[in-house]
Order: sequence, then C-alpha cells, then structure tokens
Amino acid sequence: MRTPMIAGNWKMNILKDNDDFPEQIYVNKINEAIKEKDVEVAIFPPFTHLGLIYGLADELPDNKSFNVGVQNISDNEKGAFTGDVSAELVSDVGGNIVILGHSERRSIHKETNEEICKKAKIAIKNGLQAVICIGETDEQNQSGDTLKVISEQFEKSTPSDVDVNSVVIAYEPVWAIGTGRTPSIDDIENIHSSLRKYISQSRGEEFANSVRILYGGSVNAKNGAEILGLNNVDGALVGGASLITEDFVKIIKSL
Ligand code: PEP
Repeated sequence: MRTPMIAGNWKMNILKDNDDFPEQIYVNKINEAIKEKDVEVAIFPPFTHLGLIYGLADELPDNKSFNVGVQNISDNEKGAFTGDVSAELVSDVGGNIVILGHSERRSIHKETNEEICKKAKIAIKNGLQAVICIGETDEQNQSGDTLKVISEQFEKSTPSDVDVNSVVIAYEPVWAIGTGRTPSIDDIENIHSSLRKYISQSRGEEFANSVRILYGGSVNAKNGAEILGLNNVDGALVGGASLITEDFVKIIKSL
C-alpha cells in the first residue's frame, strides 16, 4: 500500500521571529495530526530554516513520519560552486527529502528535465528522497497535451533503475499553482490514473503500483478532502495553505 504524503512548500516565506507563525506550535500540531492518520508529512522551508525546523522535528518523540527537506539542490556534488547547496550538505544537517523540478524552477531558472534527473541521482545517492514535479502549462492543457507533456517530463526527469521508495512524483498543473484554480475532480483522477498507466508501461507494474503520485496546485482546507479521497492521488504538495497552520493541519486530517 502507498502511504500518503502531505508536503508543505514554504517557498521564500516566513521570517524566523514571526509572532504569527510560531514554528514550535506548527510542528507540534502537525505531529498531533500525524498520530491520528496513517500519513507521512514533509516540510520544505527555505534553506535558512532547515536546521531550525529539523531541530524541532527531531525532538518529537517517535518522529519517523515527519520529514524535513529543501526546495532545490545543486546539480554538482561538492566544490567551488558559490551560492549553491549540495545534497550532502542538506543531508548533513538532517534533511532527508528535496523538491526537484518545481515549475517555478523550470520556468524562472530554465531547469531542464536532464538537470532535474542529474539532481535526482545526486539526491538519492546522498540519502534524500526526491519529489519530482511535473505539470503542463495552461496552453498545453487547452490543447489537450497534458498527458504527453507530463509523461515526457516523468520519463526524462526520473532516473531509471531507482528504488521506488527514493522518489515521489508530484503532478502540479502550472496553471493551478497559486491561482486558486484546480482541474475538476474527474480530471485529477483521470490524469493520475493515466500517468500511472504510463509509468507501468515504462517502469513496470510493480514500480507503478508502489510509486506515490501527489497532486499539487491550489490545494486548501476546503478542497483537500475531495482531492485526497481520489484513488490515484497519494497525497498533496501544498504551497500557500502550508503557511497557515490550521489549514495545513486540516488538510492532513482530511485524509
Ligand atoms: C506549490 O508551490 O507547489 C503549490 C502547489 O502552491 P499552491 O498550493 O499555493 O498552489
């Protein structure tokens, strides 16, 4: 069975001493929700907060299901790469998971499938689970190319011959991220099941049945239950709503 994952992508938000966002309460409330549900949670703060959030999560008793990670890593392993952060450095301070190929990195930083695949290999080698993001633009969606686009992104961004437990796929339609728009419930299920069929042809049935496919794009406390109830949706990658403790906890509890 696939254990669902709820992932919170903080992007470039949250200052350390923000009274409206007490990190300790955030971590504790998430941990209470984890205890109620069979779920894994992954929090992706900015690099600067990794140690802080990892430290809080590490103090939780029996915290196996509370993962802390980063939103990107270098495509080099180590050395003279000023400003970059390697998988090994992330792992060294307790991170165990990384988001790769988020649409903001694909569009703003022009990351290619090949670079994402290289980063995924380095991440996995250093003990990080790789959450590989794929998703079509509005235009590609309108022209009926969704499956073609995301299967190609999956194929080229996901290293072949990886252990299924070292990767998670996040389907995030670009036009749904931060917009309040989502595909219809039927469309989400159809895309996820078609993608799983594609993965089965490409990587074999066992891999396809075991790999987690998260949905991301404007998931919130209101629509979370319906989306997470779908057969082929194994969790959610949440942006904006992961910054509101009550909403994020509600999403976890709606599983
Ligand atoms: C994201 O950043 O991956 C995301 C899904 O954002 P939001 O939930 O705000 O749409």
